[in-house]
Amino acid sequence: DQAEFQNSFVTELRGEISADNRPRQVPGYHYSRVVPTPVADPHLLAWADELAAFLGLARPAERGPAVDALAGNLVTGSMKPFAARYGGHQFGSWAGQLGDGRAISLGEVTAADGTPWEIQLKGAGPTPYSRRADGRAVLRSSVREFLCSEAMHYLGVPTTRALSLVRTGDEVVRDMFYNGNPQAEPGAIVARVAPTFVRFGNFQMMAAAGELDNLRALANYVIRRYYPELGEPTGPEVYVRWFEEICRRTAVMLAHWMSVGFVHGVMNTDNMSILGLTIDYGPYGWLEPYDPDWTPNTTDFGSRRYAYGQQPNVGLWNLWQLARALAHLVENPELLRPGLDLYSATFEAKRHEMLLRKLGLTSQTAEEDKALLATLHEALAGSEVDMTLFFRHLSHAAPVVLMNPESAEAAWTELLVAASYSTAPEEEAQLRQWLGHYLARLQQETAAPEAIRELMLGANPKYVLRNYLAQQAIEAAEAGDLSVLNRLMEVLKTPFAEQPEHEELAAKRPEWAREKPGCATLSCSS
Ligand code: AMP
Ligand code: MG
Ligand code: MG
Repeated sequence: DQAEFQNSFVTELRGEISADNRPRQVPGYHYSRVVPTPVADPHLLAWADELAAFLGLARPAERGPAVDALAGNLVTGSMKPFAARYGGHQFGSWAGQLGDGRAISLGEVTAADGTPWEIQLKGAGPTPYSRRADGRAVLRSSVREFLCSEAMHYLGVPTTRALSLVRTGDEVVRDMFYNGNPQAEPGAIVARVAPTFVRFGNFQMMAAAGELDNLRALANYVIRRYYPELGEPTGPEVYVRWFEEICRRTAVMLAHWMSVGFVHGVMNTDNMSILGLTIDYGPYGWLEPYDPDWTPNTTDFGSRRYAYGQQPNVGLWNLWQLARALAHLVENPELLRPGLDLYSATFEAKRHEMLLRKLGLTSQTAEEDKALLATLHEALAGSEVDMTLFFRHLSHAAPVVLMNPESAEAAWTELLVAASYSTAPEEEAQLRQWLGHYLARLQQETAAPEAIRELMLGANPKYVLRNYLAQQAIEAAEAGDLSVLNRLMEVLKTPFAEQPEHEELAAKRPEWAREKPGCATLSCSS
């Protein structure tokens, strides 16, 4: 209850002071001061205890002033709530001013290590940027954002965090299936946390509006505060090195996504963090059968622009859009090209390195390994094998087979039966053939089988937020039962550990979940 907020964004950038929530264009400003709209009966459903401890916040009771603050019902004297102004490319087309349509930042709190962290309420009511929408969020999508932010963090993926999940006591009406049949759903608010929520789209907005002084002010603010190692932004070379660092971080984030099978689902440029963090958990999904064309987002079923295998290319395309905005800060836009090249090189190197670890390979045999990884990709894509289960079971099987190569055929059969959705798993012939090549390569390793197992278990999570697991947590939470959500939160904190009492949460996706909305397909309606 005693948290002291400050806010450098509000004190250093140009803000519109009028606290008027009516939708409008807001030219000339970085943000608008807004007041969250109170809700009927805010009560706490979930709390991220480790993140809270880091921020120096104690778990509040179910109801009370702290929860009121996390729902926007209580604005303390030190808070300066605001909504940022950004635009973006949605599905490849410039969409103009977009946000923050339903996110309101309260300000920053100082963490245990002295760093400032912004606390932002998602779903706390309309802002000038809400366009035709209500500024609210449903419980369904809020549970998903809360769970996945934290799950990604514990997997080691760069991400924004989530502190709390509050049910509002209000209903929110959504047309979930876009079939003209809107339904009332419980409303909720997630308090999400990051050093800053500035996106590519903030810079694009200033550039599109020709506000070059605003563009430069925002760039200088972000560099000074979040990239101090680059030095004072005095000349074009600092912007060039900054862009390169954004490219590098974005590449690392994408390599992580590919490594754990995360599909963001809406990689619009307004959903790209300037810090290289995963941001905006909407219709995301986790790859189950390894299908590069898979996307969970029903809005993207036509073009599959944001499918699993497209993500690295989209990352590059989005950086190119950011470069077009930042080009106004350097006299020669060509200076930004090396950043884009760095993105591709970093992604390739990091992806390669992460895949080698997933396979327990340490020594480098450069060219042959590239071929081995490429054929794995093809073999997996041609199979009906679950990505997470394949790598996890391989982590146990590979060291055993290495010690006793005679057991290989039986071990591979066991692996395929455990991981494949096919009714004749032993017929995953391409994959079987690849496993033969893999064993030959593994036999060149000098590391002990025990060390290889440790390496692989640390790179191949056992527990990921499968889409149907999130859906089960949602359905229980909607009915007032938080046990499923609580259990998932705990298990996903140590995703690389064996947790024998939670074996069923690491199981193959059940047949009933194959086509079920929320489990296999998700709409943007949230
Ligand atoms: P998204 O595709 O989730 O990134 O949403 C695009 C933009 O639409 C976001 O920047 C939000 O500002 C806005 N938005 C989404 N849902 C709502 C809502 N219910 N009310 C107001 N704005 C919204
Ligand atoms: Mg967004
Ligand atoms: Mg969203």
